[in-house]
Amino acid sequence: MSQLYEGKKGEKVLFMGNQAIARGALEAGVSVAAGYPGTPSSEIIENLADVSKEANMYVEWSANEKIAVEVAAAASFAGLRSMCTMKQNGVNVASDFLLHLVLSGTRGGMVLVPCDDPGALSSINEGEARHFAKLLEIPLLEAGDFQEAKDMLKWAFELSEEIHNLVMFRSVTRLSHASGSVELGEIPHTEPQAKFVNNGFILDPLEGPIVSAPVGYKHGLQQDKLKKAEELFEESPFNTYVGPENPEILLITSSGATLYSREAIHLCNAKDKVGLLKLGTTFPLPSKLIAKHLKTTDKVLVVEEVLPFMEENLKVLAQELAPEVGQKTFYGKRSGNIPMTGELNPDLVATALATLLGDAYSPQDQEYQTKAAQQVFFNAPVRDLTFCPGCPHRASFWSIHNVLAADNREGFVCGDIGCYSMAFLPSGFSTLKTLHAMGSGTGVASGFGKLGQFGLDQPVVSVCGDSTFFHSGIPALVNAIHHKSDITMVILDNSGTGMTGFQSHPGLPVDAQGNESPALDIPTICRALGATVEVCDPFYPYKTQQTFHKLLEAPGAKVLVLRQICALSPEKKGKKQFEMSVDEDVCLGENCGCNKLCTRVFRCPGLRWDEEKKVATIDEVICAGCGMCAAICPSGAITRKEVA
Ligand code: SF4
Ligand code: SF4
Repeated sequence: MSQLYEGKKGEKVLFMGNQAIARGALEAGVSVAAGYPGTPSSEIIENLADVSKEANMYVEWSANEKIAVEVAAAASFAGLRSMCTMKQNGVNVASDFLLHLVLSGTRGGMVLVPCDDPGALSSINEGEARHFAKLLEIPLLEAGDFQEAKDMLKWAFELSEEIHNLVMFRSVTRLSHASGSVELGEIPHTEPQAKFVNNGFILDPLEGPIVSAPVGYKHGLQQDKLKKAEELFEESPFNTYVGPENPEILLITSSGATLYSREAIHLCNAKDKVGLLKLGTTFPLPSKLIAKHLKTTDKVLVVEEVLPFMEENLKVLAQELAPEVGQKTFYGKRSGNIPMTGELNPDLVATALATLLGDAYSPQDQEYQTKAAQQVFFNAPVRDLTFCPGCPHRASFWSIHNVLAADNREGFVCGDIGCYSMAFLPSGFSTLKTLHAMGSGTGVASGFGKLGQFGLDQPVVSVCGDSTFFHSGIPALVNAIHHKSDITMVILDNSGTGMTGFQSHPGLPVDAQGNESPALDIPTICRALGATVEVCDPFYPYKTQQTFHKLLEAPGAKVLVLRQICALSPEKKGKKQFEMSVDEDVCLGENCGCNKLCTRVFRCPGLRWDEEKKVATIDEVICAGCGMCAAICPSGAITRKEVA
């Protein structure tokens, strides 16, 4: 077993941020953890699931984020400590329930852990969860390093129980996915008992029924809880100051930007001029602590990712405090000193600091920068953002694209979030024409499919993954069927939540803890809803294209399930179904299709173009042996032999 559960109090271990968060949950004695996979949050639930049996926990990958919060809330209502995790976009999904939950309040400590992705390193937006803390009127905590990630998460449960409400603990990619030293604490070995007490007076938050009404009364109570949190934040050990008594500049920061800010002060050799106020409790702001530090300086630089959330809250507070502390000048995102978008780094913060200090700072000298740019331009290999070798999605989009092109009615595909989002790029034959949130491809298609009365006569197609089908695809399909919308929904079933690391979902026969579970069959569900359903293997493009074409012609909502397991799944990885070869004498090369069909158009990385011989070849190391390229080669030059 890992140090996550076995590590003893006082031991120092190297933990990824998400492991530190998971350990914090174990040290807090969490009983229930639920989440929906999404980078950069996934490893928290994965790590907890690994030790769940020893730790007497219940851990699940829920069908979506809203359900994850509901599952965790039930545990809290029954007096247990619970948490739920998700990426930033997940809080949007859960927000409907969350707005009710924060009014009804909680019982056992309950912590919401969203992991934001500044710079959208693995996302298609930079939306951030902090604004939800303000909308939900709940305390927001942000750890500045790995030790804090563990210790603060544990404290978040104590805070939740003190105010009887949900607490948000926000992480970011650089904290969740980087690693650092963490000193372990004690894991309690208790046996918490669940009991849902509900027979008390209706307004009794601890013994009555748990409801958000009467809203006026409960909202007042919620505000009192927030005030209580602010009082506790005034003395929080997670708010720290380092620097001179009267700094020339007060730098206020939090979360992952703490590390950049520390380094920037060092790079600018400015520790005698710049004070660093690191806030771990970022909403509501501890006003007395802020006032104390604002009195010491006239200039304030706020460093945070992504939007000016803290900066704007600080400005409002500073205006309220102005009679006591005087007028201050704020620098940050609104002044243009810190970029308004993207991830920060020490150079960006050092540049801002140096500008305010009137010093010059350049990350590298000019000669170095010119040389580095030349190296990148001339020497870095050009690589597409593309599907993996042997990826069934490439095969699926090959068929979808070709059928729509042959159909010649300007049919188009609405997409959503998954590996298959890459189909809006040339590597997916630029097939996707709309790309939005999980499940929204089918929802948007459902709308397009009703525009026939206004003259829209293009075939409407949506794509959605198997995990996404359960997450939010079903209601969209229900809508399309009920409203007789003319769409073809293609479910790209690669038998796992491929993009985030093969977490389980309701269509698989195993749950997060490794228990056997009933696997819900997607075609059966779609048929039960009333859709016409066909199932094909995308590695057989002829049959797939024939079937897809037939569905396109039919009216109403139809479903095509393209089922083929992900090339990187543990079951398949490293196992070739076919040995592949190209007959050089048969290959048409530059005369093939519209020139090198397999390497230039189909673009599987397992295929290479031999510039000397002017033929295609198979890269034995990269080829996954799926056999698909043999099916698309018009001359039969690519052959496949079943591996015994
Ligand atoms: S598709 Fe076949 S014929 Fe065309 S370039 Fe590739 S191997 Fe040669
Ligand atoms: S068999 Fe062909 S399509 Fe499949 S991984 Fe190998 S090169 Fe790519």
